[in-house]
Amino acid sequence: MSDLGSEAQPLRVAIVGSGPSGFYAAEALFKSDLSVQVDMFDRLPTPFGLVRGGVAPDHPKIKNVIKVYDRIAHNDDFNFCGNVFVGRDVSVDTLREYYDAIIFASGAETDRSLNIPGIDLVGSYAATEFVGWYNGHPDYRDREFDLSGEVAVIVGQGNVAMDVSRILAKTVDELRDTDIAEHALDALAESKIKEVHLIGRRGPVQAKFTPIEMKEIAELADCDVIVNPEDLDLNEVNQAELDAAEAHVHKNVDILREVAHRLPEGKSRKFIVHFLESPVALEGDSHVKKLVLEKNKLEGEAGSQWASGTGEQVTMPCDLFFRSVGYHGVAIDGVPFDEKAGVIPHEGGRVLVNGTAPSGLYVSGWIKRGPSGVIGTNKPDSIETVESLLADCKMLTPAPKRDSAELIESIEANGLKVVDYDGWKKIDDAEMERGKAQGKPREKFTRIDEM
Ligand code: NAP
Repeated sequence: MSDLGSEAQPLRVAIVGSGPSGFYAAEALFKSDLSVQVDMFDRLPTPFGLVRGGVAPDHPKIKNVIKVYDRIAHNDDFNFCGNVFVGRDVSVDTLREYYDAIIFASGAETDRSLNIPGIDLVGSYAATEFVGWYNGHPDYRDREFDLSGEVAVIVGQGNVAMDVSRILAKTVDELRDTDIAEHALDALAESKIKEVHLIGRRGPVQAKFTPIEMKEIAELADCDVIVNPEDLDLNEVNQAELDAAEAHVHKNVDILREVAHRLPEGKSRKFIVHFLESPVALEGDSHVKKLVLEKNKLEGEAGSQWASGTGEQVTMPCDLFFRSVGYHGVAIDGVPFDEKAGVIPHEGGRVLVNGTAPSGLYVSGWIKRGPSGVIGTNKPDSIETVESLLADCKMLTPAPKRDSAELIESIEANGLKVVDYDGWKKIDDAEMERGKAQGKPREKFTRIDEM
């Protein structure tokens, strides 16, 4: 039994990732009765993960949660170590020399693939790349999206697909006063997109988006929304599924029904919702020109219906294609990983090393449960992980080295600049100052060396 968590020997925890799940884990640790020191690592010089790089620029209220994270970061026992890529700039083994426990909260950093012929043609992209690009994430700063055609198609009906659809369907004036990255606003100002098609493989009752997102699109200034009323005629199984569904599914169907009865007003853009269609192939010489879809029918019982191809195919023009079929986690060197699910295997947040726990390694957020839920879903998820960690505390082997400054020094000895929370605040202030000049809440730095 160790003395970890006492005043004499505070529990030292490294959190890898500074998004919502990382901050909620830090908060839960600080709320415990133990004496705890938290060092939070992020590969970027900027914290907050998808709240900064994923939440749409026209959803500023969702970003208010940053105020909560900022308060957590001001705890005397909290250190931010930005610009450090765990697994590359510092190994997990080295972290284990300095920390009694490590919580991996690195999210789901890439996209789930869609293996259809033509997916690598120019003009076909992952929605997650586009999101990173318009949000000024340094990884996507130099991506180019060809917006010179008229027809954009997005496959998948989750909220990421809705964000991408909305950004494409909005006028530049509707985006100008948001924190959208300048390079994206400039490119969108030249966009020739006139139709945005949202393709779902299942029906309206199974759509994953939330009502607010559909309502927002239905209220855009210069975009007609087109839904086929026949798609809302539910058969017995779908009606039974709807009857048993949560309130937001009913709201989705109500909004879709209202929209389906609207007459197009001749606005300059159209948002067209398709159901029961799956992508089969993208066609074109080097650039996407057409999308082949297969019509589906639903099979199975209410609540667990899946899409099954009917064999009937349709081909539609397509100048810009986004797959928006979910995020996928990325392995961290030295940590067990389930490639197929894109998650770190765990039991109650304890990482299973060779099938056993506790190992001093923990996991929370999307890299634990997969890419689901909203920001707040990460709070109970992280609390569960921290409860496991605290229960294990006395059984953990105290780390032999206990000086964070020494670790940072060793990382910086390799020519890297570690950015602490004060450093981030300077970036934050400068971004807000740049934004002010343009009537925006902030103008992000989109390259790490600029930061
Ligand atoms: P998601 O909600 O899981 O949606 C993925 C979509 O892709 C579903 O419609 C799914 O259909 C479809 N799909 C999956 N594989 C497919 C395939 N092979 N062919 C065709 N369609 C396929 O994922 P997401 O949109 O990436 O969002 C991730 C999480 O972030 C979600 O929890 C979301 O709510 C959250 N988020 C929230 C906000 C917000 O609150 N404003 C914004 C963005 C993201 P099936 O249902 O048939 O599988």
